[in-house]
Amino acid sequence: MINETRIKEHFLDLVQIDSEAGNEAAIAEVLKRQLAELGASVAQDQAGPSINSNSGNIIATLPGTMPGAAPLLLCAHMDTVVPGNGITPVIEGPIIHSDGTTILGSDDKSGIAIIFEAIRAAREQRVPIGDLEIVFTICEEKGLQGARAMDTAALRSKFGLVFDSDEPGVLFTKAPAANHLEWRITGRAAHAGVAPERGLSAIKVASEAIAQMRLGRIDFETTANIGIIRGGAATNIIPAEVVVHGECRSRDAGKLAAQTQHMLQCFQDAAARHAVALDDLTVTATIDPTIIEAYGAMNVADDAPIVQLVLAAGRELGSPVPIKAMGGGCDANIFNGRGISVANLGTGMRDIHTTKEWLDVRDMVKTTRIVVEMLRLHAAGA
Ligand SMILES: [Zn+2]
Repeated sequence: MINETRIKEHFLDLVQIDSEAGNEAAIAEVLKRQLAELGASVAQDQAGPSINSNSGNIIATLPGTMPGAAPLLLCAHMDTVVPGNGITPVIEGPIIHSDGTTILGSDDKSGIAIIFEAIRAAREQRVPIGDLEIVFTICEEKGLQGARAMDTAALRSKFGLVFDSDEPGVLFTKAPAANHLEWRITGRAAHAGVAPERGLSAIKVASEAIAQMRLGRIDFETTANIGIIRGGAATNIIPAEVVVHGECRSRDAGKLAAQTQHMLQCFQDAAARHAVALDDLTVTATIDPTIIEAYGAMNVADDAPIVQLVLAAGRELGSPVPIKAMGGGCDANIFNGRGISVANLGTGMRDIHTTKEWLDVRDMVKTTRIVVEMLRLHAAGA
């Protein structure tokens, strides 16, 4: 039996601890204590300062009751997006939402609550389980920085799960790689009324480039977006500089590279069309691009042990677990890039990253049930 009241209470406690990305210290203290109470040996790494967090990632090891079972990784992230301070959960039976002024924080405190409840329920049911490595990361919402900064070589697990997506009881095995992109476009400033012919508008160059760009959903596994434009100083000054920020994502590395190149080419082509002739020189627009490889793809094969375990758990429970691809990155992208086979099991978080975020406690229970059964099958196969 999963204890619905207990997981609900734990979840409610967790969401009321402020933990916007970079400010995970308070929740980390609570979780370290709760992990220690479970009997885990708990460590915290030094990743914080390098990524502007007041905490480190938590890495806990919980000895199992089935020696010989391969250790298994269970992971969720401690940080939330904004506005995530002073969350007041509103409870309507099994449905929990925020009071509308903040997010709820089910992303990803539902994942944390599920991990704890699975362990507690397995113990109460005397389900033998193998050793667990429990990781609670920081700064997931800032481009997976916490997991990226973590020394994953210290982990013994070769496979595991993160709990960080919406649909309960759905296993996400594929997620795109992403590039963060920035272009600095430089033109030439001039007085817009007195000497417009001596100016070169960086805004015009940027506009032309973006108008030519393929954006949005490029194909079934590739997306691209321009998200931020900053530039200009006054309406009477031809703008000398614009900075444009965008991203692209694809589950295919070749398509990611091609889309990234396409976006750069649009800027370069637009810049090449713009020049201004001054007394004895010609000024052309220039593009200074920055490409940051945010994370690699998650691509866990259908026959990978972790996928087979979760599917078997679903079959045992009589509710088959669907496999899906997701459009965003999560800590699993980082783990897979480090050779640890990690898929993402949905928790029931809904309308995340909005003040309308909500969660049905029964969805957390459903996912927890799958986890307990998976742990049982894993240990039984050892
Ligand atoms: Zn998340």
